[in-house]
Amino acid sequence: MHGCFDCGKPLEATKRDHLYGYDHGKKILLREVTFLACTCGYYEIEIPRMGPLHEAISQALSVLHAKRENLSFIFAPGDHGVRDGAWGVVVRGS
Ligand SMILES: [Zn+2]
Repeated sequence: MHGCFDCGKPLEATKRDHLYGYDHGKKILLREVTFLACTCGYYEIEIPRMGPLHEAISQALSVLHAKRENLSFIFAPGDHGVRDGAWGVVVRGS
């Protein structure tokens, strides 16, 4: 893991939910993505496999007739880590 781009200190990684700006509509909830933060205030969010994520979101929005605020997406790493992991969709009851 690299250090902070602002001050060079090591970043602390935590998992947290993130509202992702997928398009101009309501933001999409991503569960437990890696959040890297520095004591100076710098932070970044690691979203693995953006291509498959966008496919999963567009498929869920077109196939599942659920409100997008009831959808959330969670990444499951595969056998070889994030490289072959997959995004899954969770639909909450409305
Ligand atoms: Zn910093």
